[in-house]
Amino acid sequence: MPTPRHDVLILGAGPAGISTALWLRDFKISCLLLERERQPGGQLHQIHAPIPNYLTAYGWDGARFAGVALDDARAASLEILVGEPVRRIVMERPARRGGAMKRSSPPSSSAAGVFRVDRGVRERLRASVVVLATGLSRRTLGVPGETELEGRGVSHSANRERMRWAGRPVAVVGGGTAAVEDAVLCAEVGCEVTLIHHSTRFRARNDFLQRARANPHVKFVTNSEVRAVVGKERVEALRYRKRGTKRDETIAVDAVFVRIGWEPETSIVRGMVRLDRRGYVRVNPSGRTSTPGLYAVGDVCSPDAPSIAGAVGQGAAAAWDIARTLGRLPR
Ligand SMILES: Cc1cc2nc3c(=O)[nH]c(=O)nc-3n(C[C@H](O)[C@H](O)[C@H](O)COP(=O)(O)OP(=O)(O)OC[C@H]3O[C@@H](n4cnc5c(N)ncnc54)[C@H](O)[C@@H]3O)c2cc1C
Repeated sequence: MPTPRHDVLILGAGPAGISTALWLRDFKISCLLLERERQPGGQLHQIHAPIPNYLTAYGWDGARFAGVALDDARAASLEILVGEPVRRIVMERPARRGGAMKRSSPPSSSAAGVFRVDRGVRERLRASVVVLATGLSRRTLGVPGETELEGRGVSHSANRERMRWAGRPVAVVGGGTAAVEDAVLCAEVGCEVTLIHHSTRFRARNDFLQRARANPHVKFVTNSEVRAVVGKERVEALRYRKRGTKRDETIAVDAVFVRIGWEPETSIVRGMVRLDRRGYVRVNPSGRTSTPGLYAVGDVCSPDAPSIAGAVGQGAAAAWDIARTLGRLPR
């Protein structure tokens, strides 16, 4: 079995992954970040409104934050491979139970195992420890036209794109705060908005809901499933069906904002670690999962408080624990 070139492989270069890598570097532990996208930064690239709650970055947008994070990564000479997803993790030699979430005795350096991580089609990498920092992915409708018309009317952020559709008919799909807020934002720039939700109950914040209900340019269509986004070169209409009926309705729209939430990106560890009932990785405060040597940090294990601060903090906590597990820090 080949010797691992790196002590630690970190899957995902969002705030959690980069923070973990910086701390590991500080502890002189070799690590490599593996990022699916061409640009590191994760969800930071989706933040278009000013960030109101992160110390030192108050009022920044996500692009600025991601740029500075990347500058930090470069300045610290972190190794990052981008542009390919990790497809598989294989435990070639199990670590001893001392490195797992439930532990009766403290872990030791021999608690580490050997993991093989398959990236892209042919690339195989090995490490003693793997950190899952894969964050969240947008939920999709999974209907015809959604992927095909992405960027040509199918959008995910009214904050960023509403001016493009100002004064035109649009649909917003979802029932959470993001969806209702998008409906209000679009109505404010003169759009006729149809807000489509699969239930009659909304999870959105009450103040947003009240604003949407009070706006004559927002029409609510509840208890309805989207069936297709229609259009050839660009979005032309949306097809949906009211629950309990057998007939599709079609509304003419120029844009569809899909705002149906996010889900943890755990497909590569399914069956390998314990997940909670919502599919998030279960961890202890140091980021240990139920599999010794496999850690999780950031949004992928934070169903209740996803945040940049949380992701950065969890990366630090996991790095300290990894350093102790690998015998690089005294206990
Ligand atoms: C619109 C919006 C506004 C927000 N506003 C705020 C705010 O004001 N304040 C705040 O604190 N937080 C905010 N957040 C949340 C914040 O961005 C996240 O909590 C934070 O980015 C989580 O970091 P993370 O590293 O855990 O995950 P992510 O940022 O999701 O990064 C995960 C990374 O893993 C990569 N990845 C996934 N699967 C694979 C794979 N198989 N192989 C390799 N790489 C993979 C992804 O491409 C991604 O780069 C906002 C989020 C959004 C979407």
